[in-house]
Amino acid sequence: MVFIVGARSKKHYMLHAIIPHSAARNFPLLTVAGLLAVWNPKVEFMPQQELDELQLKLLKTMVYRLYNFSSFYKERMNAANVTPDDIHTLADVTKLPFMTKKDLREYYPDRLFTVPRREIVRYHASSGTTGKPTIVAYTRSDIEMWSESLARALSSIGLGPDDVVQVANTYGLFTGGLGFHYAAEKIGAAVVPASTGNTERQIQMIQDLGVTAMAATPSYMMYLGEVAEKMGVSIKDTTLKYGLLGAEPWSDKMRDRIQEWLGVTGINCFGASELAGPLWSECDHQCGIHIWRDICLLEIIDPETGEQVGPGERGEMVLTMLQKEAFPIVRYRMGDITTMETEKCACGRTHPRISRITGRVDDMLIIRGINVFPSQVEYCLHTNPEVGNEFQILVDRKGYMDEMMVKVELKPEAFTDNILELNALRERISSRLKSSLNVGAKVELVAPGTLPRFEGKAKRVVDRREI
Ligand code: AMP
Ligand code: ZN
Repeated sequence: MVFIVGARSKKHYMLHAIIPHSAARNFPLLTVAGLLAVWNPKVEFMPQQELDELQLKLLKTMVYRLYNFSSFYKERMNAANVTPDDIHTLADVTKLPFMTKKDLREYYPDRLFTVPRREIVRYHASSGTTGKPTIVAYTRSDIEMWSESLARALSSIGLGPDDVVQVANTYGLFTGGLGFHYAAEKIGAAVVPASTGNTERQIQMIQDLGVTAMAATPSYMMYLGEVAEKMGVSIKDTTLKYGLLGAEPWSDKMRDRIQEWLGVTGINCFGASELAGPLWSECDHQCGIHIWRDICLLEIIDPETGEQVGPGERGEMVLTMLQKEAFPIVRYRMGDITTMETEKCACGRTHPRISRITGRVDDMLIIRGINVFPSQVEYCLHTNPEVGNEFQILVDRKGYMDEMMVKVELKPEAFTDNILELNALRERISSRLKSSLNVGAKVELVAPGTLPRFEGKAKRVVDRREI
């Protein structure tokens, strides 16, 4: 048995260690030339008992740190009647209180940070449920943990220094661009920081630079295929072999289509800005996303009762990040519905996997990879004095791209038949929405009393997308 161990730079990447690791016992060697590049074999193939011990140690250390150095966590734990001394086993994690997006909003912008400002080296942000985004801070070691996690993931599909990774996720406050960038550099791949848009040039780069993997949303990958066809380019005939796809829900059907039509293996990737950014992916067996146990404690709960459910049972994902310094995340209710698979993967990695995400417990929409909350739309609309109480969000998929339309009822005194005035108002609302949501929406202004009324909970969203 041999492992190739991913060294930390392209220059030094070589078969530099043949490890007689205990994990090798049941480890089938697959992939190119019978050799599999593994980024961190000691951790990735660690036996369960050792992982249990490591995870418990990390959990205890984190709880101790938060209880003693963060007033927020101390108050929360006191209210839940729990102290660090109550954490004896991994099951004791359930004694800790949940965190939700609401907490992140209430403590905006930095009151959940647990390091002094001078230790913070980066900020990112993601959409909040109302006007304010969620700000995420990172220490140097948080950035290291993030790229280590995704580096393991990228290696697990066989990527390494021979690869050219084009990052077609947005660079900026969104974590998708820089997340893949750092991880791909870490495994020694050459990175093309293309960011989003300019699709013809993206296709040109794939051809000219011999791009082998592309990080993107699945819908953008489909769109890229369509543009390539119009340009007379067959993606199948290019060097592009892997799509590192995520940031939005997608289906097995869509994966089959990407794989058959474009000849690109669609790898499901997962993460969220609150956690750091994109952190995990499937391995080359494509049977669920490996969640590294030394980085994150994964639970699946019944969203109604808050009780944990068993492996294979569907529920809401709850995550505790075990190594984060600047912005800890403890029992964070992600809102995403999935299952946990604990059986060992065919790749030999011992860490649990989550299956494809099948929905959300809340009303969060994902439009072109960007989270959009109806409450955020409402908040933004009501900053315009002409807008009445009713609005409706219609979401469609045109070709492969999401389109959002917001129908807005005006107040009787604001409604006019002066088209120029209405157009100016529509433009104003539309550009406010765009800058608040980070994604464009068509706006239609409608007369007072024309949108549907509801006796119970208002149904503000009509999502007509099929994925
Ligand atoms: P953000 O904080 O903007 O990165 O958004 C994170 C959210 O995007 C997650 O909580 C999920 O709802 C969604 N998401 C990310 N990756 C995937 C994926 N592979 N499949 C389905 N939803 C995803
Ligand atoms: Zn695997």
